[in-house]
Amino acid sequence: MKTDVQIAQEAQMKPIVEVASQLDISDDELELYGKYKAKISPDVLERLKDRPNGKLVLVTAINPTPAGEGKTTTNVGLSMALNKLGKKTITTLREPSLGPCFGIKGGAAGGGYSQVVPMDDINLHFTGDFHAITSAHNLLAAMLDNHIHQGNALDIVTKKIVWKRVMDMNDRSLRHIIVGLGKKGDGVMRESGFDITVASEIMAILCLATDIEDLKARLSRMVVAYNSKGEAVTAGDLQATGAMALLLKDAIKPNLVQTLENTPAIIHGGPFANIAHGCNSVMATQTALKLGDYVVTEAGFGADLGAEKFFDIKCRYAGLKPDVAVIVATVRALKMNGGVAKDNLAEENLDALKAGSANLLRHLDNVAKYGVPAVVAINRFPTDTEAELELLRDLCKEKGIDVVLSEVFAKGSEGGMELAKEVINICENQKSDFHTLYDVNDSIEDKMNTIATEIYGADGVDFTADALKQVRELEKLGLDRLPICVAKTQYSFTDDPKKLGAPKNFRITVREVKVSAGAGFIVALTGSIMTMPGLPKVPAANGMDILSDGTIIGLS
Ligand code: ADP
Ligand code: MG
Repeated sequence: MKTDVQIAQEAQMKPIVEVASQLDISDDELELYGKYKAKISPDVLERLKDRPNGKLVLVTAINPTPAGEGKTTTNVGLSMALNKLGKKTITTLREPSLGPCFGIKGGAAGGGYSQVVPMDDINLHFTGDFHAITSAHNLLAAMLDNHIHQGNALDIVTKKIVWKRVMDMNDRSLRHIIVGLGKKGDGVMRESGFDITVASEIMAILCLATDIEDLKARLSRMVVAYNSKGEAVTAGDLQATGAMALLLKDAIKPNLVQTLENTPAIIHGGPFANIAHGCNSVMATQTALKLGDYVVTEAGFGADLGAEKFFDIKCRYAGLKPDVAVIVATVRALKMNGGVAKDNLAEENLDALKAGSANLLRHLDNVAKYGVPAVVAINRFPTDTEAELELLRDLCKEKGIDVVLSEVFAKGSEGGMELAKEVINICENQKSDFHTLYDVNDSIEDKMNTIATEIYGADGVDFTADALKQVRELEKLGLDRLPICVAKTQYSFTDDPKKLGAPKNFRITVREVKVSAGAGFIVALTGSIMTMPGLPKVPAANGMDILSDGTIIGLS
């Protein structure tokens, strides 16, 4: 089979104005970024505010292998298949980050015959949104350091600065640095570091803001440091809000592109799924819901993190009501959850598959707790054997689980017809009774306990002494009545990446609690979470090239 980038470069793209006119977006509501990319004006939302929303389909997954289980690929393939069945469908996704693209995981534009295009642009600089977020973030960092250098009227304690710098790259050398080295005029010397841009709170804010006023209000609330009295110092205190919003004026507009089969795709924002909520922007989803009959969207990581945050953070804030969840499962990830080592996943192993299916069952139970009906999509890989696929289908059917085989990677929309028909069937015949899992007014401990016991299957939660102190401080600051954003390993229901399957008899340990006051959530860290990843021994970048005729090599 051809590589992803070969398939993408052979795509028969339509001019983006044609894709937009399919959605009844007028020329005035479109800002072109070349021939195949455009930004959609917020005027569309205003014009269509009384139109009923389309159906909202969430694509989520079981606990994955490190390579990913195909949520994006399924998302794209399903939307193409729905479109083929006569439903006006829009795919909405996150924008890829350059870090993983050049590191190990690769891009995030789908795969095989289910991709969004222009795949190279989308995976690289796209329409510059991430650069704008990087600039806004670093402007605030510069204004903060300058404020201290110029006399520190806000009485900021330099050891209590929580605002770092960001860049969209995996660069471990910048994790811990000293800034302000040199002469007196070179600023105040202190320890600091870089995070990857997708970990910036501004990324999360851009994805939760409903318009520019809301964006500004959220930017202004961001905590950058604490003063000597322990009070929070915010971006608003540094008078940085207006300038940051100015830098973000285009970045807040959703981007329109298309799939390999010319289905409209709105790709916008890309927050981390650990220290942030891991979904594309609210404005993109809301715009898509007004423009389409069906909107298919993805939440990062497995359903324990991705779907939970999609429901409890994004849907809660934006008032969205998902109609159905597609849970992507692969034979290889279930075998890994059943105890098979990463390097042996290509070998048939029916026992491990059976054992690992416990992971899928727990995710299904979890989604049901939100009142959202679900269908399991088995994303077929070339290494899957017929016996394995049959066993998995039987296991699901035995438990009364709605399951279909998806072959969108190899066949595009043709491989997703069965899945699309089932999604339509659920949307037309089953009612979603969506509700969030907990009340934001509960205490931080109670909210965390609900997530851990109900979703992870834990016996309870332990807060370290430090974490408890932080909880009490947030209560004192009046910042405790926010949803919780758990930062946890994506490989396990527990906080230990090695405990796969559906573990029981464990507790979750919260080691650190901090607030993202602008984004509007409390981050509960359950282990050491990397906010500036490094490159692997052989980065994907080593195999990349562009030839004189424009042919791209090695991008996936
Ligand atoms: P996720 O969104 O869950 O992280 P992706 O859709 O990005 O997963 O897929 C992860 C990787 O696996 C991509 O490189 C994609 O091309 C590849 N992939 C996905 N589905 C299949 C499949 N059925 N067969 C082969 N490769 C696949
Ligand atoms: Mg993905």
